[in-house]
Amino acid sequence: MKRIVILGTGGTIAGQSRSAGDNVGYAAAQIAVADLVTAIPALSGFALEAEQVAQIDSKDMDFAVWRRLAQRTAHHLARDDVAGVVITHGTDTLEETAWFLQRVLAPDKAVVLTAAMRPATALAADGPQNLLDAVHLAAQPGARGVMACVAGVVHAGCDVRKVHPYRVDAFDSGDAGPLGYMEEGSLRRLRDWPHGVPLGLARVLREDWPRVDIVMNCAGADGALVDALRALGARGIVAAGTGNGTLGAPLEDALLRAQAAGVAVLRTSRTARGRLIDSGDAALPSAGAMTPVQARVELMLRLL
Ligand code: ASP
Repeated sequence: MKRIVILGTGGTIAGQSRSAGDNVGYAAAQIAVADLVTAIPALSGFALEAEQVAQIDSKDMDFAVWRRLAQRTAHHLARDDVAGVVITHGTDTLEETAWFLQRVLAPDKAVVLTAAMRPATALAADGPQNLLDAVHLAAQPGARGVMACVAGVVHAGCDVRKVHPYRVDAFDSGDAGPLGYMEEGSLRRLRDWPHGVPLGLARVLREDWPRVDIVMNCAGADGALVDALRALGARGIVAAGTGNGTLGAPLEDALLRAQAAGVAVLRTSRTARGRLIDSGDAALPSAGAMTPVQARVELMLRLL
């Protein structure tokens, strides 16, 4: 039997609360990933290996952890005796890590991110079932690509997004819809595995990542933030536009000036679903179906 490697990065799935009834006042990233694994008897039938890559609340995710995670994931995927990798992660930035890993590695084995909305000490913790499902998913024959598996739903890494701050079923895939469902250890797959051309690990190993920020259009928005970001040395700016990527005139002017000065700009929508439908004459390039946070990761990767 081939192995599944479980890389721990922290999150609520490894969180502890003083009282079992408290699902919000807890500390994330307290329990070692090896202990999360041994607490699930149903995992005993798998050949597993656990490694702690980081121990953080994912709201604090940074580029150094991403570099280490990409390196360790690539290292284990290259092993003949490994079928796939599961990553325990916080829910807050899981979608950014998923986009990052899919674009950098586009693996031909499964890399499954999983998480929990309730700490491990909760009355009805969701983490153990999510981790069990993620391991089953990583072990499915032919499974490939970066995916997220939470609350029994499987999302492609480039579609997944957090849509709820509290509910256990906190993720969805936007207009793409889920990739499938985990049912008693089996995947009911609705569409193809995620695939793509990897940008490669070498691209992200340098430490001088470009500064890329997000500015949002909203009533009364002006260009002051864009000008401030230019002064800070931002190399890229993602505009989270209203509706179909529209921008108020002062903000658009500031972005056009930034673009003319060499700052890379991508336009997205602050709405929750869909893609930008361009008329073809847009002066600021569209990021298509990317969410603002996905576009930010994408722009950083392009600038690296
Ligand atoms: N703040 C936590 C984190 O992202 C939330 C969670 O995991 O649900 O690590």
